[in-house]
Amino acid sequence: MRASQLLIPTLREVPADAEVISHQLLVRAGFIRKSAAGVYNLLPLALRVVKKIEAIVREEMDRQGGQELLMPIIQPAELWQESGRWDVYGPELFRLKDRHGRDFCLGPTHEEIITDLVRNEVKSYRQLPLLLYQIQNKYRDERRPRFGLLRGREFIMKDLYSFDRDQAGLDVSYQKMYEAYARVFARCGLRFRSVEADSGAIGGKDTHEFTVFADSGESVIVYCEHCDYASNTERAASPPERIPVDEQPAPLKEVATPGRRTVFEVTSFLGVNEKRLIKTLLFETEKGFAAALVRGDRDVNEIKLQKELNVLRCELADPQTVERVSGARLGFAGPVGLSGVKIAADLEVMEMVNAVAGANKDDTHFLNVNPGRDFKADLVADLRLVKAGDACPKCGRPLAETRGIEVGQIFKLGDKYSKVLGAAYLDENGQARPIIMGCYGIGITRTMAAAVEQNHDANGIIWPFSIAPFHVVVVPVSDRDEKQMEMAQAAYESLLGAGVEVVLDDRPERPGVKFKDADLIGYPLRVTVGNRAVQSGELEVRRRANGETVFVPRDNLAGYVQKIIAAELAQLEEKAQKYSMNAP
Ligand code: ATP
Ligand code: MG
Repeated sequence: MRASQLLIPTLREVPADAEVISHQLLVRAGFIRKSAAGVYNLLPLALRVVKKIEAIVREEMDRQGGQELLMPIIQPAELWQESGRWDVYGPELFRLKDRHGRDFCLGPTHEEIITDLVRNEVKSYRQLPLLLYQIQNKYRDERRPRFGLLRGREFIMKDLYSFDRDQAGLDVSYQKMYEAYARVFARCGLRFRSVEADSGAIGGKDTHEFTVFADSGESVIVYCEHCDYASNTERAASPPERIPVDEQPAPLKEVATPGRRTVFEVTSFLGVNEKRLIKTLLFETEKGFAAALVRGDRDVNEIKLQKELNVLRCELADPQTVERVSGARLGFAGPVGLSGVKIAADLEVMEMVNAVAGANKDDTHFLNVNPGRDFKADLVADLRLVKAGDACPKCGRPLAETRGIEVGQIFKLGDKYSKVLGAAYLDENGQARPIIMGCYGIGITRTMAAAVEQNHDANGIIWPFSIAPFHVVVVPVSDRDEKQMEMAQAAYESLLGAGVEVVLDDRPERPGVKFKDADLIGYPLRVTVGNRAVQSGELEVRRRANGETVFVPRDNLAGYVQKIIAAELAQLEEKAQKYSMNAP
């Protein structure tokens, strides 16, 4: 392709609304343009990257026996009502009506549609197992669409669904997908880890997320450097810390704590350790108010809380609501005498003796609060947010913490959808059994952005060879020098002839502009044709990743470039093979 004819609108300025580097660079390098919040045009370069990621995904799905199909984006509400998710999914679901007033939604995911398809078409154990997948646009009206392609409202996803006769069959399908996912991300040139995760609105039991390490990532992961434990903090369990106590419960006592509201203010005023305070946080749910209690040095994990309360909505109450419900200004709520509120206590709280807690009265706390004696908990569970330094639930040593981007997630659904939607098969004995399902997603456009988050420098993107839009750009230093242009043209044609994906930058631009754009766009190789090349017949080949340059005789160029590309792809394949052996 000739740069003069390609739509690659590069920009020098950082777009004002782009907070993260992948968003900035994809806009600046002419890959994407915004249409509406979280909705983007993928320009020609971006589409080439997307197609490469999709090709890798297809190969790995097919390798495991996946069959590609294509389901509708527009889905009838009836199926979602049947599964119960029409109400559960909430405002993230894009809903619409047809001209007859019938309800539909734009697919955020396809469990309902595919289960409906399979319940109608699969009748016998002989037809199982089945692995069906598609690559398609998904629609989610995210509360906070942001970070460019990382969190869009329209995005491309690969979703695969597995159908098995039983749990053992599902375990095999899950294992296959685990391996396929690790191979996909390794081949895309990403540094990632699979982590235990929470199953969220999709439901189900076992689930892993594939997370790409990046500081801009929205997922917080705790992992153990001593064993193989890694988990999203949304789900991470950590055993309660046991603090030996040799105190007897003392009588409850009210103390004045004027203006002391935060854990730090109260505990320093009273001269006690933060571990002695019961932190009380009020949440609003569709089933009423709930107070979550954790130790003063801990934080509440809202995902765990929501799960334990078995509610769909769980939001921290605002100060006015806290005042109305507890009878005191923010900072003085506590479990003793708190009425009309469900009390959910963390395991550690129930072991506290003579603790400090808010008294539900302005500027006042209680001393010697003893759980069980002074208040009853409606629910006792692991509610705390795990953080770095907490004990590893597997080996007990301290956990480390990092941030990442979730690029894929795999779930064991079991019979969650097949039961409610009635997807059954007849076994060898003619007995009807529910089909056992799994579901497996990869964000294609998010993976593209994640690759940029991990592979860039101050000058622009550094595409891994496997997903680069083109492998090579040929840059004549001066477009007015006929000899240079001729030589560049010949180099371009020899590369094209060898099947190399190459762009000829034939634009009438200054060399500085062309070099800057080449770096910004991130072609892995740049071939420069200047005076020296014309005189010596040798072309400069420069690697984007490390700036290394080599001079190659013009006749050897195509062979040399082919060899580099093959070696780079082989290296990624080697990494992929290593990952396949790491499956759990
Ligand atoms: P998140 O927690 O980031 O919202 P999710 O758990 O809702 O993700 P899944 O339902 O598991 O995501 O979807 C499968 C994959 O689709 C994700 O791993 C991610 O790569 C991608 N994905 C999900 N939501 C978005 C989005 N809003 N924009 C781009 N990609 C997304
Ligand atoms: Mg989501």
